[in-house]
Amino acid sequence: MSLFKRLTGLQPAVPLPYVENTVVAGQASLSIRYLGTAGFVVSDGTHTVVLDPYVTRPDLLTSLTRPLVPDADLIAALMPEADDVLIGHAHHDHILDGPELCRQTGARLIGSSSTAMVGRAAGLPEAQLVETAGREDIASGTWTLRGFPSRHGRIFGRIPFPGDLHAPPPWPPRMHQLKHGLVLNWLLDTGPLTVMHIDSADFIEEELAGHRCDIVCLCAIGRQARPDYVRDVVRLLQPRWIIPCHWDTMLTPVHAEPDLLPGVDLPGFLAEIEAAGVRPLLTPILGTQRFS
Ligand SMILES: [Zn+2]
Repeated sequence: MSLFKRLTGLQPAVPLPYVENTVVAGQASLSIRYLGTAGFVVSDGTHTVVLDPYVTRPDLLTSLTRPLVPDADLIAALMPEADDVLIGHAHHDHILDGPELCRQTGARLIGSSSTAMVGRAAGLPEAQLVETAGREDIASGTWTLRGFPSRHGRIFGRIPFPGDLHAPPPWPPRMHQLKHGLVLNWLLDTGPLTVMHIDSADFIEEELAGHRCDIVCLCAIGRQARPDYVRDVVRLLQPRWIIPCHWDTMLTPVHAEPDLLPGVDLPGFLAEIEAAGVRPLLTPILGTQRFS
């Protein structure tokens, strides 16, 4: 670990309190694998849904100066199966690897109209695109998927690359060509367990109210961007477990030790989750949690 990274806060001064490959209560019936950034693979062994896949993770210079090319081999190695792919919003760090994963697996790409534009840009056929404005149930095998309209968080006071995509962007795209479009929080009802995915630093209270769930995958930078972020999520959704996400810079290779996003107080985030009576499951990138 370089001294520079420690001094700049990119690396933690103490090891992160990871919880890995834990069977939480009884026999496992659902597994959740963390992909880094806001990416997850949720599977019950027969059905697999992937959220916000972004494993290509180009470095900073490439991200800022070059078209972003999905790493097809890495996607195949890390995500051999997907029945559906859900996108929370169409920024590069949430959508870049989605179309290639759908091409390889035959999965549907599900998200906003901007997400569908990205799918078209990458050459996916219309039959693999599912557009939603949220507030509707989408059948996925025996599971039910539902998007809740949400808001993108502000980074240093402003929302990066705002707006919708009204036409397919260039492909491969540059970072700034992927506008976020409609932001959706995804609820996955898998039968025995429900999972809510909040992939940005804000949400709409009225949309989430009344939708209790067991597990929340929660964006760690939200705590800085929205007052009472953790407390409000727990009050509204009453989960048993929270898996933090979006705490790494997304600029390191997926198999390397991740850097922390500057400004993310991960220990503080975990403490707030515990103080709200919920068990935090800080998961290493490519680590898996198992639930029953
Ligand atoms: Zn974003």
